Amino acid sequence: MDRKRIDFNRAPFIGTEMEYMRQAIDNAKLCGDGPFTRKCSELMKEKFRVENVLLTTSCTHALEMAAYLCDLQPGDEVIMPSYTFVSTADAFVLQGAKIVFVDIRPDTLNIDETKIEAAITDRTRVIVPVHYAGVACEMDTIMEIAGKYHLKVVEDAAQGVNAYYKGRALGTIGDFGCYSFHETKNYTMGEGGALLFNDSSYLERAEVLREKGTDRSKFFRGQIDKYTWVNYGSSYLPSDLNAAYLYAQLSQMEKINDKRRQIFDLYHERLAVLEERGAIERPTVPAEATPNAHMYYIKVKDLKVRTDLIQYMKQKGVQCVFHYIPLHSSPAGQKYGTFFGEDVCTTRESERLMRLPMYYSLSLEDAAYVADCLLEYKGY
Ligand SMILES: *Cc1c(COP(=O)(O)O)cnc(C)c1O
Repeated sequence: MDRKRIDFNRAPFIGTEMEYMRQAIDNAKLCGDGPFTRKCSELMKEKFRVENVLLTTSCTHALEMAAYLCDLQPGDEVIMPSYTFVSTADAFVLQGAKIVFVDIRPDTLNIDETKIEAAITDRTRVIVPVHYAGVACEMDTIMEIAGKYHLKVVEDAAQGVNAYYKGRALGTIGDFGCYSFHETKNYTMGEGGALLFNDSSYLERAEVLREKGTDRSKFFRGQIDKYTWVNYGSSYLPSDLNAAYLYAQLSQMEKINDKRRQIFDLYHERLAVLEERGAIERPTVPAEATPNAHMYYIKVKDLKVRTDLIQYMKQKGVQCVFHYIPLHSSPAGQKYGTFFGEDVCTTRESERLMRLPMYYSLSLEDAAYVADCLLEYKGY
């Protein structure tokens, strides 16, 4: 028998990308804010029920835009989990903010909403919930705390595209939402993202920021007859060629979602016996959350078992990976942030989590093989 080789991730490809990209080339309009960029924004506005969607070059850039629009002063504090990707924090560090890390919940690995209020000081300006694995944070509680202390909420919904909290799309509940279309996410354009917000009073500043500090967006809409440098800005708009690839994916969002869901369910059902035996823990989803099967992870006893299991799976031809090293234990995290209170769950849970292959083109047969390998492993 041939040795299996199952990658951890492969960029999704639905089949219509080439046709849309050819159209973009025929349009002879490859810069930003072309027809496909508009189609992507309109589709997301409608599907996710949000007023404004600006396509960006990455989720990192969407976070940078959100951080800028929060009007931070040096020394202002931003609350977020330590168990997240570097960009969640880095975007705010660029604005001179100090990062205050709050512990996560052991069940969802999302920020522990019951520990946020104690971390608030008179310098706190923003809370950044990260919807880990596309499973919603406890948003009602977070929005209530933000309202009480007049804080802004920036949702890092990089993994939460087409996932919901009480029926509302992740990324549309706080003041700003940030999506990622990196190739490791559910829907992709290679590298890309989006900034979402309902309050249209931010639109003009957001457009200027995204268009090199100019009012070119207004100019394109015919609202002014020449454009000029009006404020600080950068270039956060992706090429329409990339947007064409994304549009193919967004148009078939449910097809991609269904396939990921099938893989998720297969893992979840087959690995139930391991959980019953106390060998592993499987992901849990709160009743309020409708996730998007972004990720499938298991939690084993400790770091030692995880290291051994990753090695074992590798020998079986299956690439499994761990995830974030908590930011507060990184050099930059120590320089720019502090962990508030006790780290009860962050380090412990991060050390025992292992992610399984999960992508659109993964066959159910291969997913079953992955589950079988885990069932055969004796080292739990
Ligand atoms: C992927 C990811 C990002 C960064 O997304 P890019 O589009 O690669 O910039 C930020 N936050 C979280 C939680 C992510 O998973």
